[in-house]
Amino acid sequence: MKAILFPGPEAISVEQVDDPTCGPEDVIVQVSMSGICGTDVHIYRNEYMSSFPLIPGHEFGGVVVEVGSQVKTGLKIGDRVAVDPNLYCGYCDFCRREQSNHCLNLKVVGVTRHGAFAEYVTAPARACYLVPDSLDDGQMAFIEPLACIVYGMKRVQIPPAEAVLIFGVGPIGLLLLQSLRHRGAGPIVVVDRQPDRLALAAQMGATVTLQAGPDLDGQLKALQPHGFGLVVDATGVPRVIESAFAYLRPRGQMLMFGVAPMGAKIQIAPYDIFRNDWHILGSFALCYTFQEAITWLESGVVDVRPLISHTLPLAEFSDGFHKFVAGDTLKVHIDPRRAG
Ligand SMILES: [Zn+2]
Ligand SMILES: [Zn+2]
Repeated sequence: MKAILFPGPEAISVEQVDDPTCGPEDVIVQVSMSGICGTDVHIYRNEYMSSFPLIPGHEFGGVVVEVGSQVKTGLKIGDRVAVDPNLYCGYCDFCRREQSNHCLNLKVVGVTRHGAFAEYVTAPARACYLVPDSLDDGQMAFIEPLACIVYGMKRVQIPPAEAVLIFGVGPIGLLLLQSLRHRGAGPIVVVDRQPDRLALAAQMGATVTLQAGPDLDGQLKALQPHGFGLVVDATGVPRVIESAFAYLRPRGQMLMFGVAPMGAKIQIAPYDIFRNDWHILGSFALCYTFQEAITWLESGVVDVRPLISHTLPLAEFSDGFHKFVAGDTLKVHIDPRRAG
């Protein structure tokens, strides 16, 4: 089959590789759509938990084309499925405490084992979720990132009319915006460098959109002199995260959603955390939230279609990936069935 390979750090190749094999409890999924994510960029730069060579791709769905001999979930050939890429063991201390995203034996499709920027991928049947026909392939590839958002929404407390500040309105920031709006937050102020992203954020329910720049500090202080109840980082940029605490009100929550490079550092005064009763919340991946994400998409709680800027064949992966890295795209989807 044809697949995208990261043969080593900062390298991409399109290769002909062996078809994946189906273990007794696995299925083979023919990939319909697979999304490029900021995590893929960290993997590419060797800033994440992956090793090389790797076929990346962890946000995907497709059609079951082979079912292992021991599969007992009822899955059959032809089923449309999205795959939860986070393969937890089910028996370690964390799994037994309903904290499967901290599984001690965690394997991740497209991160620690081969993923879905390929024509076919192997997945355990237990990680597959049936996707209703009312969702198209583009929506299907958004189930994984949306499941991460749903998990984040479970992490934070959102009282009605909570004032929210979001840094970064790429695809993830725009999903967070729609979800927080749905949860009753507001006003929601968003910050980004790109005017087109801010315009989209305004359409999706942002109360105020601000372009990052020298005037930003004064504008934010004027809007909420005592700070915001919830500040969300959706950039993963350490410098942005460090500055974000200046806009957090006492008792406020800081939600760290963006993936910063592993090992990056920020400075923060411990006294400020103490004196302000701050909550600092991480939100890593997802935790039994796939089904909720499917339900949110089905019921129109969030609209992901405006977030897809490109749908490309595998042959154009490298081009789409570099545009994504440069910030020239929103979500880039790869359709391995397309000739290109
Ligand atoms: Zn992702
Ligand atoms: Zn476990």
